[in-house]
Amino acid sequence: MPTYQYACADCGHEFEAFQSFTEASLTTCPECKGEVRKIYSAVGVVFKGSGFYKTDSVKSTTSETPAATTPAAAPAAAPAPKAD
Ligand SMILES: [Zn+2]
Repeated sequence: MPTYQYACADCGHEFEAFQSFTEASLTTCPECKGEVRKIYSAVGVVFKGSGFYKTDSVKSTTSETPAATTPAAAPAAAPAPKAD
């Protein structure tokens, strides 16, 4: 079973996980619940020193399902004033 390495983009926590190819990737940091990135076999690619991750723009790729603009049910908050 391959070992995957992950790095948290928020707190910088790095950890490894044993996963099969069919398993879903981890997405949350066990430390801070932040966003983690899978580091594929870091052979030849050494993340070291400054400029490690500066990819905040990647977050925009998460698809947001556009909620159908259904007229939300009117909040039954204010009871109609009773006119006597
Ligand atoms: Zn973290």
